[in-house]
Amino acid sequence: MRIPLIVGNWKLFKTLSEATGLINELKPLIGEIRDVEIVVAPVFTAISSVSAAAAGSPIRVAAQDCYWEPEGAFTGEVSPQLLKDAGCSHVIIGHSERRQYFAETDATVNRKTQAAVAAGLTVLMCVGETLVQREADATFTVLEAQVRGGLEGISDDLLRHIVIAYEPVWAIGTGKTATVEQAQEVHAFIRNLLARLYSQSEADTTRIVYGGSVKPENVAGLMSQPDIDGALVGGASLKADSFAKIVGFHV
Ligand code: PEP
Repeated sequence: MRIPLIVGNWKLFKTLSEATGLINELKPLIGEIRDVEIVVAPVFTAISSVSAAAAGSPIRVAAQDCYWEPEGAFTGEVSPQLLKDAGCSHVIIGHSERRQYFAETDATVNRKTQAAVAAGLTVLMCVGETLVQREADATFTVLEAQVRGGLEGISDDLLRHIVIAYEPVWAIGTGKTATVEQAQEVHAFIRNLLARLYSQSEADTTRIVYGGSVKPENVAGLMSQPDIDGALVGGASLKADSFAKIVGFHV
């Protein structure tokens, strides 16, 4: 009932030719996989070229951030409408690197999420605790505040266009993955919270994906868990062979 979703977050990597080259390498490796939603998130400048290179394949394109206004005097920003125009179907919002380095807050995540879903994009809304928060037993409190804050004012109808990405900050780019049990525990907590905020049926249909050092070697274990519906992949999405193995976790 929840289609698995694998997203490659390319962060601030790859020139235009490297980005389109990666798509051209990926296409034959992904082959006929149609039962997994596959998304890559290049830098803004590569979005249209990557969309053109991915045309006719199952690969969809995400942006790594957006602004909430459709247009105006907002130097340096990119709106959801322009992302769609450039070929995006998805957008990542609230990545921990944006929270850490670019002053992203639950309130800005909420404004961006509202604007992006209203423009017809699917949002990957990222949440996650730091190591200090986990060690202080604050994981669930932090996550509850991030989920509630990010989803404030979002109706049931709009929730259908949102995927929650649980990314423990201590596992991103560190090589440390949450254990399958740790990840499942948090995913179940978030699903429960969605049931409290919306309804059990909305919670059951909302996808919750895991991110944090996902690799070909650990993806199948994570995906075997009942509440883990996919993966947000950083480092291992930068090479065609490792990303294709992650996408093909079930074949
Ligand atoms: C990410 O960028 O969202 C991420 C999870 O990175 P990595 O897979 O490298 O830990």
